Amino acid sequence: MGKIIKDVTFRNGEKATMFKHANGYWHCPVCGSPELGSPAYLEDGSGSFQICSCGFEFGFDDEPSASGTKIDSVIGNWEVKRHRKLQYLSSKSDQYKELLTNLRCIGIELST
Ligand SMILES: [Zn+2]
Repeated sequence: MGKIIKDVTFRNGEKATMFKHANGYWHCPVCGSPELGSPAYLEDGSGSFQICSCGFEFGFDDEPSASGTKIDSVIGNWEVKRHRKLQYLSSKSDQYKELLTNLRCIGIELST
């Protein structure tokens, strides 16, 4: 069985892929956690306004005015949040390993 994916194009032209886990839930595009009841974003790039356990709200925390980062890039805002999460968990080996495993599921390969 192949992986179920969905391609998304944001208003600013950025493109990303949403991945569905075998457990029936969708992966968070920020931390990779397979816990979302529907894809984080619709095909047209609008956010689902679900909030992942990593704290990211899709359609809110990616807005330059709301995010506090002032980054006009959806993917850029994901990266900022992901980097913070990686730093935060870097001293907690079990949770860090789980995070790396989840990120691998969404195509992000990081060395340990
Ligand atoms: Zn997340």
